[in-house]
This record gives sequence, C-alpha cells and structure tokens, in this order.
Amino acid sequence: MTDEKLYDVFVIGGGINGCGIARDAIGRGYSVFLAEMNDLASGTSSWSSKLIHGGFRYLEYYEFRLVREALSEREVLLANAPHIIWPLRFVLPHHTDMRPAWLLRLGLFLYDHIGTRKLLPGTKTVDLKTSPVGKPLKPLFSKGFEYSDCWVNDARLVVLNARDAADRGAVVRTRTEVVSAQRKDGIWEVTIADRTTGTQETIKARLIVNAGGPWVDRILSGVVGRKDAHNVRLVQGSHIVVPKLHDHDRAYIFQNGDGRIIFALPYEEDFTLIGTTDQDYTGDPKDVAITDAEIDYLCAAASEYFAKPVERSSIVWSYSGVRPLYDDGASAAQEATRDYVLKPDPAEGAPLLNIFGGKITTYRRLAESMLELIEARIGRKAAPWTHRAALPGGDFPADGFDVLVAKLLADYPLLDPQQGRRYVRQYGTKAWVLLGDAKTREDLGQHFGYGLYALEVDYLIAHEWAMEASDVIWRRTKRGIRLDKEQVAALEDYMAQKRAA
Ligand code: FAD
Repeated sequence: MTDEKLYDVFVIGGGINGCGIARDAIGRGYSVFLAEMNDLASGTSSWSSKLIHGGFRYLEYYEFRLVREALSEREVLLANAPHIIWPLRFVLPHHTDMRPAWLLRLGLFLYDHIGTRKLLPGTKTVDLKTSPVGKPLKPLFSKGFEYSDCWVNDARLVVLNARDAADRGAVVRTRTEVVSAQRKDGIWEVTIADRTTGTQETIKARLIVNAGGPWVDRILSGVVGRKDAHNVRLVQGSHIVVPKLHDHDRAYIFQNGDGRIIFALPYEEDFTLIGTTDQDYTGDPKDVAITDAEIDYLCAAASEYFAKPVERSSIVWSYSGVRPLYDDGASAAQEATRDYVLKPDPAEGAPLLNIFGGKITTYRRLAESMLELIEARIGRKAAPWTHRAALPGGDFPADGFDVLVAKLLADYPLLDPQQGRRYVRQYGTKAWVLLGDAKTREDLGQHFGYGLYALEVDYLIAHEWAMEASDVIWRRTKRGIRLDKEQVAALEDYMAQKRAA
C-alpha cells in the first residue's frame, strides 16, 4: 500500500521529543507523519523521575546552558499545562559528611537566579528540628534548604503533544514500526509496518526526524543502513514505589556517599517514589528491568535519611528506563552530559536529522532547535509559536486548579471530590468532554476499580490512542498500581471487545 501524499516531515518515535517536534512542525504549516512502534510514551518518556527541573546537580558538571534553559522552561510548561504540571518544593537536608552547607547555599543561589523565575518561590533555609518536613527524617539532620521545581505527568505530556499535533492535522500512528527508509530522487521512501495487522505501507517524505530515543543508533543502522552508528550512551535509571513515607506535600533530595543524589517524591496520593540510579546499559532497551543491586542501593540511600528504614519488602512497584545520552566520552554514567545534541546525517540527498540526549523538561526548546534545522532544509513556513500555547485541557490559569475542580464537582454532582480532582489532574478542561451529559454513576458505565469507569476508557480509546489495558493503566492513568489481576483482566476483556466491534 502507498500513501501518495508527499509529507514535509516524517517523525520516527512517539516519545516526548518526537511528539513535541510533530506538534511544533504541524503548527508551523508543515505536513507531518509520526510513527511509533509501540504505544505513545512507551519508551523512556514514561519511565522518568517526572520532574520539570533545572537539574540542581548538573551545576557541578558546569552544564550552565542546560540548567539555564531548563530552569526557564519550568514556568513556560507550567503555564501551558497546569493540569499535568504543578510546582513542587524540594527539601535538601544538609549531611555533615557530604557537601558543605555553604556550597549547597551557593548552588541554590545560582539555581534561583540563572533562569527566569516569576511564579515559583525561591530557596529558604529550614530548621529540620522544628519543621514538619524534618519529622520523617533521622534526628541527626538539623539543617536543610527548601527550593522549587515542578512535577509532570510525563506520559500524559507526550500524549497531549500528540493529541494537539493530530488536532492540527498531523498523522499519528501507533503500533507502527518504521522498518526501512530509502533515499530516492531527492525524497524519502519510508516503509512502515502495522504491528497489529502486519500490513506494510510506504510513506513519502522530504525529511526524516529520528527521535528514536534509546533506539536512535539502531534506527540509523537497521532502518537507514548506516554502518557507523555509535553516538548514544545508554544509561539505565530505576525507581521504586513504596507506601507513602510522610504526610506533607514536599519532596526530598538526598545526597549519597558516592556523590550522586536520589529523590523521594510524593506519588499518586498514597505513595512515595524513590529514584534514580545511573548505570551503563548495553542490552536491548525494551528489556530493561530493575536489578537487585539497584533495589539495595535505593533502599540504603533512602534509609540513610528516613527515620524508618525503607525495606525491600515494602516495595509495591518499580520501573526502569534507559536514558539515550549523547556519548561525550565521560568516564562515569552520572557525568555524561544530559544536554541534547541534534545531528544532521552527512549523506547527500533527502535530509535526516537525529536527536541524541535531552530531557523531558527541555523538549519544547529541543523542538524549536529542530525546527530551525528543518527550516534551513525545506524552507521557513511560520514563526515559533509553542511558547504561549496551551496543551489540550491546559487552557486555565496556572493557579486555577482548585477553582476548576470546584466547577467540575458543581457541574457533575455524581462525582466524589477525589474523582473530580483526578479527572482535572488528568484531563483539565477536557474533563467536560470526557463526562459529556453523564448525570448518574450508571452513566459512567462498567467500573473496573479505583474510579476507572468505561466512560473514561472509551474516551482514551477515542481521543488518546489507547489500544490495550497497559496503555490505560500505566500511561494514560496510573491505576495499575492499585488494580488487581482480576480487575486488569476485566479491562482487557472490555478493550478486546471494543477492538473487535
Ligand atoms: P523515548 O521516550 O524513548 O521515545 C522514543 C520512541 O521511539 C519510543 O517510544 C520507541 O518505541 C520509538 N521507536 C524506536 N524505534 C522505532 C521505529 N523503528 N519505528 C517507530 N518507533 C520507534 N527528564 C526530565 O526532564 N526530568 C526527569 O525527571 C527525568 N528523569 C529521568 C529518569 C530516568 C530514569 C530516565 C531514564 C530519564 C529521565 N529523564 C528525565 C530524561 C527523559 O525521560 C528522556 O530524555 C526523554 O524521555 C527521552 O525522550 P525521547 O522522545 O527522546 O525517547
């Protein structure tokens, strides 16, 4: 099968970078086709620490460009997606055996001032002996600092970029693998395979963006046929989830004896998320899984600070991802640059633009830089526009979350407050589209457990490319942490029936 249309831009990969570029490009008037071989955000983009952050520790590696850009991006993204991004205060306890307090204060002074910051409050010193944030910690920690960053629902950020791109006219295909790409008469002929049916199709495009994340080198060798693809350093990072370790709404950043840091983050209301590790990875990115050594490391690092030790037996869930870092030759994995590198393929003919590295935090800026490369190759169509453009459901003020929840609960008295809050966190103003003219609990349809009803699943199938139960319970929502096997099986059955219909 051949789609005869000649697309301007073909994007390989539906992670944050691919979807961010597709959205920016279609908004500037280019025609766009994006293919993702699994589900959107099924790669690294749903396995992150979920922070929109400057990266305090990158200051130690003199990554000033990256930190400045990332710090400034926090409030831009917060304004564009206040449903899935919100401010988070971090507590950094001073540990007498590690970096001195004056150095931490100096670093945080820089952190407060080198990027744009209008909404987020600055750093303050905290007395851990008297403050509630000191309570969960061992009594030996008496002094600490509190500073600002933001939280993001990473997988939803990806899906909302894809949704907006598609609403503007981009073709977004999931479960669609790019199997080969060949230059022919100045354009690309891209062969894609539908993973659910096995059918193949050829798509023509002027230019390819390789946003394959950890697969970027594999795409260069396996899809494009290059023999010298060794640009990326794969670095595994893992997280554990335990029942919540405290009642306040702050996060912790802990220094470890090895010079690294870990976070302990409030997660999904009832849990604490602890991560991450940094270790080189040489396997297939799809097979990455937390190791026993990583579990021991995270439990020990957190137990160094929390009064109640974090035990392996308390872990309710864990996950692991692979950072596709640009291989800058650094000796230790934690020292490899977190900045992104955009590299045009040197071969003659139709352009191929590759992405190495990057952060969720800087995806929008990465997309703008990529658009400059695209413009230089196929001509300019329009100016940058994503700086002040709400993502779907994010068209309400950054401090208007509670007002929106109250409005939703008033419009839909069938919802209990917790359900209303979750819908606004997930869908923002699109919660009204989701709920439509529902008036009673029965109108929400089959209940799969923990507030997940058929009405929401139908919305995710119709609007957000959800095809399998795992798409719904791990990426569109995080209900998977709570649902048991029978409940997941019931959801699988329901979605299978929908697919067959
Ligand atoms: P991916 O999300 O991996 O997307 C690439 C996609 O390409 C995949 O979905 C894959 O299926 C698809 N693909 C590959 N080959 C093909 C093919 N042949 N055809 C079609 N599709 C294909 N960043 C932050 O800003 N904040 C954080 O707190 C943070 N924490 C992190 C913690 C960890 C442990 C890790 C691993 C990373 C973290 N990051 C963080 C970094 C961030 O997650 C990544 O930089 C980002 O998600 C990379 O996105 P991507 O789109 O490049 O790659």
